[in-house]
Amino acid sequence: MQRDKQIFELIEAERERQLHGLELIASENFVSEQVMEAAGSVLTNKYAEGYPGKRYYGGCEVVDEVENIAIERAKALFGAEWVNVQPHSGSQANTAVYHACLKPGDKILGFDLSHGGHLTHGSPVNFSGKLYNPVFYGVEEETGMLNYDKIEEIAKKEQPRLIIAGASAYSRDIDFKRFREIADSVGAILFADISHPAGLIAKGILNDPLPHCHIVSTTTHKTLRGPRGGMIMMGKDFENPFGIKLKNGKTRMMSSLLDSAVFPGNQGGPLEHIIAAKAIAYGEALTDEFLHYALQVRKNAQTMAGAFVNKGYKVISGGTDNHMMLIDLRNKDISGKDAENALEKADITVNKNMVPFDDKSPFVTSGIRIGASAVTTRGLKEADVETIVELIDKVITNFENDKVIEEVRAQVNAMMKEKPLFQW
Ligand code: PLP
Repeated sequence: MQRDKQIFELIEAERERQLHGLELIASENFVSEQVMEAAGSVLTNKYAEGYPGKRYYGGCEVVDEVENIAIERAKALFGAEWVNVQPHSGSQANTAVYHACLKPGDKILGFDLSHGGHLTHGSPVNFSGKLYNPVFYGVEEETGMLNYDKIEEIAKKEQPRLIIAGASAYSRDIDFKRFREIADSVGAILFADISHPAGLIAKGILNDPLPHCHIVSTTTHKTLRGPRGGMIMMGKDFENPFGIKLKNGKTRMMSSLLDSAVFPGNQGGPLEHIIAAKAIAYGEALTDEFLHYALQVRKNAQTMAGAFVNKGYKVISGGTDNHMMLIDLRNKDISGKDAENALEKADITVNKNMVPFDDKSPFVTSGIRIGASAVTTRGLKEADVETIVELIDKVITNFENDKVIEEVRAQVNAMMKEKPLFQW
């Protein structure tokens, strides 16, 4: 068969783009060669509906071992009692959690998308906002931070069945213990979505949700630095308080409901090649090298946030505890969209992002979101990220000047060309 030149040329072009550019999208990272190799392995050929030892297909003895290793490593990494590694994505992990805990029309309390939450936390354009009845909490306008007393007030007024703690664009550590007190005070299930900071949480750099939250989901490809995918965990299994009563007066255990919600509720055959890649990434994350990586991610993010503040940028909440920051550009007379476009011309990739209390649409926005996970994987340290802030500032203050942008692009390419995609 002829090699598909058209697609392989495009893959090569993407590799070049990644190599020469500065990747600052907070949700992206670069995987190791062994993670990449597993993701492109013969395991992609295998159907394995079901779970290890309980499959609907023959020939699953090898993938059963792979999936069990992924589960055991994830348990060790997060201190979880139960894990499901099959969700194809973060969104599908969250779909399964709601499917297992809720009925259509049930009330959920999540972080407002325009304040930093995720689409799957109840946005009206997402299934979570269409199928369930969402209410929201947000950050304080003055501080850019969560106010837990206010969240408690909303929870008491709204009486949600499920509360979501977690975000896509919140740079501060989350108090899961306080969230649990709030959830307990209204009898709600507490669900944490740690997609963004999972790698930092795994290494104990941020608050651990597992002891406090009933259910925890994550993507596997952000700070956790695995293949694209999702995962669901529990620190401790429990009976679904809102479930149908069984003959013995009990309700089904959440682990059983969650497994059924992933398969057959929400997915068919698991992606065993991706599960193998997840297992490898979890193995990498269990090492001390990954602790150094995660610490460096936070150092780099904090250095960048400080450098932006020193240049007069408004960093929401004034800084960061994790891998990312949200910058409000309203005092710089440039929209998020124009900043993203100008930076892209300089081979610096960020994403435009709504800021809390934004007056612009989600397509224009007043802000940009910046993350340090990917550049840290490429080996950049504090001095490098300070240079990056200089370069970003140069582009933003000259966003209509193609000559300046071209100069910055040359500097970016020179800085990155010797650096492999994966250096840790
Ligand atoms: N949850 C949060 C907090 C996220 O930030 C994201 C992705 O950005 C997701 C869920 C969804 O993940 P995916 O894109 O894999 O569906």
